[in-house]
Amino acid sequence: MTVSKLTPDDFARLYRRFNAPVCKFDCGKKCAPLNGGSPVCCSTQNAVPVVHKAEFKLLRGRTDLWSRFKPYDATTRKIVDELTSVSCAIECKGAAHCERHNRTIACRAFPFFPYVTRARQIIGLSVYWIFEDRCWMMSNMRLVETSFIGECLDAWDTIFAKDKEEWETYVDYSASMRRVFSRRGMKIPVLDRDGQLHIVDPKTGDVRPGRDNEYPKYGPFKSEAAYRRAIREAGGEVPAEGLAPA
Ligand code: SF4
Ligand code: SF4
Repeated sequence: MTVSKLTPDDFARLYRRFNAPVCKFDCGKKCAPLNGGSPVCCSTQNAVPVVHKAEFKLLRGRTDLWSRFKPYDATTRKIVDELTSVSCAIECKGAAHCERHNRTIACRAFPFFPYVTRARQIIGLSVYWIFEDRCWMMSNMRLVETSFIGECLDAWDTIFAKDKEEWETYVDYSASMRRVFSRRGMKIPVLDRDGQLHIVDPKTGDVRPGRDNEYPKYGPFKSEAAYRRAIREAGGEVPAEGLAPA
């Protein structure tokens, strides 16, 4: 059995070093109209934060913001059933109660994860693609701050150095992404530490520099018209500036 060496103190240090916002804009304003007014990644109807048990221990000592997540359907039951031995699923009190310094690593990193090549090397950050139809940020990768990329990758390096199970989780997740994107005939976008876009061919695993017109646009974020239509269907209110960053 794999033993994780991560402690609550490790997470306290990680929290101090990983604070950079993902971009200069409040991206929650862009996805909330599609999600009943709440940012998509702050609602367990969409995303259930999974944390290391040592991280939950740290959080419980600092705040009452977080509690154990209770599954409410087959999908969320599956998430809980498939947790690794050192993880647990938790939920916060919601966006209106957010405490910035008590956000989990999952909150801070969303919607990005460390992409691992077939040769088992991390080359940068890619996206949790299942949220592509709801997360504005994934369709605006050119706006991601390099400070965020650096802090995020450093945090994952620290976690992987002490927890091999977590490392294998992302090796497997990256391989799943290659399988899914290969089936869909899509290229995988990856941002390196300098904020440069790279494109992975999911069939071969080959990586090449991305061109300016290759930043992905997904689902309702493909055009202003598609965005407005999706918000109308969700019964939300279009932000004053529409789809554009603001
Ligand atoms: S990261 Fe994505 S889902 Fe989360 S608030 Fe920003 S746009 Fe919404
Ligand atoms: S702690 Fe904040 S960022 Fe994290 S899920 Fe809750 S509201 Fe969202």
